[in-house]
Amino acid sequence: MAYKPKVLKSLKSPGFFMNTRKGTLYQLTNHNSEPLNLNHLIVSQSDFLHCEKLFEVLKEQNKSFKSFIGFSKEEEPKKCIYLSPIDYYKPQQTMEATAKADTVKLYTTRGGYFEVSDDQYYKISKMINPDIIVSLTEIPTGKGKKSHKRSVEKTIGFLDKAISIFRPKSNGNSDQNENHLDKSTLIFGSIEGGQFDEQRKECVQKTLERDIDGVVLHGTESAETIEEKARQIALTMECLGEHKDSLYTVYSSKGTIQDILLGVSNGIDYFEVDYPNQLAHAHQALNLDFDNKNYVDTQSLFSEDILNELKTKQPKTFNMTEYDKHKESLIGFTDGCQCYACQNHTQAYVAHLIKCKELTGTILITIHNVHQYNILFQQLQEAAENQKLSNYISWFIKTNLI
Ligand SMILES: [Zn+2]
Repeated sequence: MAYKPKVLKSLKSPGFFMNTRKGTLYQLTNHNSEPLNLNHLIVSQSDFLHCEKLFEVLKEQNKSFKSFIGFSKEEEPKKCIYLSPIDYYKPQQTMEATAKADTVKLYTTRGGYFEVSDDQYYKISKMINPDIIVSLTEIPTGKGKKSHKRSVEKTIGFLDKAISIFRPKSNGNSDQNENHLDKSTLIFGSIEGGQFDEQRKECVQKTLERDIDGVVLHGTESAETIEEKARQIALTMECLGEHKDSLYTVYSSKGTIQDILLGVSNGIDYFEVDYPNQLAHAHQALNLDFDNKNYVDTQSLFSEDILNELKTKQPKTFNMTEYDKHKESLIGFTDGCQCYACQNHTQAYVAHLIKCKELTGTILITIHNVHQYNILFQQLQEAAENQKLSNYISWFIKTNLI
């Protein structure tokens, strides 16, 4: 049934998809994001709900969505668009439930919630023509079992619709074939069910019965505790069973360091990530030590101990609003960091920019934070290759969480 297709070959596991704002990286131009090597981008579908005209123009001019968001012809093939109904950047929850079987309400920047049918959703999705489409889902508005049951039923219905649109069976209908722009779009099914084991199991089971390439673990959007997240992940991975080996698994959250360590220790392949931007907006620069020579000798923590550490600790950061602390620091954020910000600027300068409310300060922190995530994932990949992932996670927790 499922296969591990070619499109993600460029993205090793564990890896991440970087959140964007309307398809562009926060405050980063293509020029300054290039050294960061961010090729796997999350596009929030709700940002384009009102853009049918735009897509008509692009079609007339024979231009792709990737060219519209600024990638050159040479860059296009290496950029991977991951199209999702959920967006962690927006201040409001992205979605509200509706009573109808074929609609949800999505939060749009054009002013509040907008009811959208699955037909409309996929019509726009097809025009964006992503490399990966995450099927539409419904985040339950209520906390009760009933709303989770309905969320699972609707989500499976939405998945069927995605499959019928993105993988139409050839039936001699030339119009349909012509409209099927890209046969290589991968379909990732959304897993809902919240804290209700029965609903979550049912959602996994029904999703696996369908022709999909990956699954996205949703139902973790609201303020779950780390224990609840751990339970949801463990149960989902258990239900996936041997399918884990052939399907991509993605964890949908803000992508905090704690989310990533928790997910990786449970075998998740990929992560949606927005947190480096959120930290930068709060003027926090990650202060992580990646000198990991001794990680292989670090004794692996038990999963309960990992959970306790993640529950009570935070990654180390510099608070760049504390001007007096940084005003005489004539070095980059962290020792040996090769990012553009650390190589060219000092903590004193960035603290000065923040004090002056100058946006460049936030941009420099974003560059540094994203770079730190890149190193974290590179080291996780190396540890995974060496079969030393649990040693690395234990080392990282001891070294970098306080
Ligand atoms: Zn740096």
